[in-house]
Amino acid sequence: MKAAVYLGKEQLPVQEIAVPSLEDGEVLLKVGACNVCGTDRRTYRNGDKKIQPPRVLGHEFCGTVVESRSGADANVKVGDRVVQYIVLPCGECRYCKMGRSNLCLSRTTMAYHYDGAFAPYVRVPAPYVRNGSLFRVENDLPDDQMGLAEPLGCVINAHASRLNIGLEDTVAIIGAGPIGVMHAVVSRLQGAQRVWMLDVSQQRLDRASGFDVDGVVRVAQDGSHLEKMQDLTGGLGADVVIVACSVASAQADALEIAGKAARIEFFGGLPKSNPSATLNTNHLHYKECVVTGSYSEKMSDFQAAQALLQSGRFPADKIVTHHLPLERIEEAFPLMETGEALKVCIRPGD
Ligand SMILES: [Zn+2]
Ligand SMILES: [Zn+2]
Repeated sequence: MKAAVYLGKEQLPVQEIAVPSLEDGEVLLKVGACNVCGTDRRTYRNGDKKIQPPRVLGHEFCGTVVESRSGADANVKVGDRVVQYIVLPCGECRYCKMGRSNLCLSRTTMAYHYDGAFAPYVRVPAPYVRNGSLFRVENDLPDDQMGLAEPLGCVINAHASRLNIGLEDTVAIIGAGPIGVMHAVVSRLQGAQRVWMLDVSQQRLDRASGFDVDGVVRVAQDGSHLEKMQDLTGGLGADVVIVACSVASAQADALEIAGKAARIEFFGGLPKSNPSATLNTNHLHYKECVVTGSYSEKMSDFQAAQALLQSGRFPADKIVTHHLPLERIEEAFPLMETGEALKVCIRPGD
């Protein structure tokens, strides 16, 4: 079969590799769709020390069980359409025991430690199957839209545990890519009064306007976006500010835009080569803000994401904007970088 194999920085050739053969306890999926994540783009551009090449990338997928050697262990059977919670936590460490399994000290992850789904078939190792990481899709939402369960679960992890957005809150989101848009939708579902999105790209803002947001603001060199946010919030600042991009100046802006008693979420990490931001921490002092981050997702977040997608109340169809055959996977990265695409879907079977 043909697979997109990560060999190192800027090297993602589509190569012929063997269809995985199964050991006892394992399941084979035929991949219907696998969406390209921002982390795939980052790995492609910068490399990732956690990924030992050669490795088939692709972790936002939906597929059909075509073979199973899992017997009674599995909660899915041949013919089922499934999505996968891609993290396998150890279940034993301090963070697993405290219910924060996404922070597990020895977790493994599909497409990092095992081959992922930028290939026609993906093998689900036995420990994942035993852990109940495969979830049957219960409606006819297409594979590309169900592939959003993984990133949406990460968004829900940020909201569910820490942001606690409700009817009293105004929300500003910096970064109008797919993650920012998902944050906007979830903020609204949580009950947010007002939701604004900010970005440097007018193209991304124009698309974001098509979602249920109160307004969009272009981030400008001269800092005029900060004044605009003060105007929009009646001089108070936002109650919740979410940074959905990997940009240090956006993290600094978040503290400026935040109102008193605000919660601030740094969703995206900064490049590992330059992970420092210069922040005016007096904002934290005088405004009593809380800054938090979030990483990955727990199984409960993934389940909530799947349920939300299946409810039909999530505009998944507007988030997957582009489709490419596997052979053209490298074209996804510029589409994401220019803001032309929100989510790019790869259909490895095409
Ligand atoms: Zn992802
Ligand atoms: Zn653990």
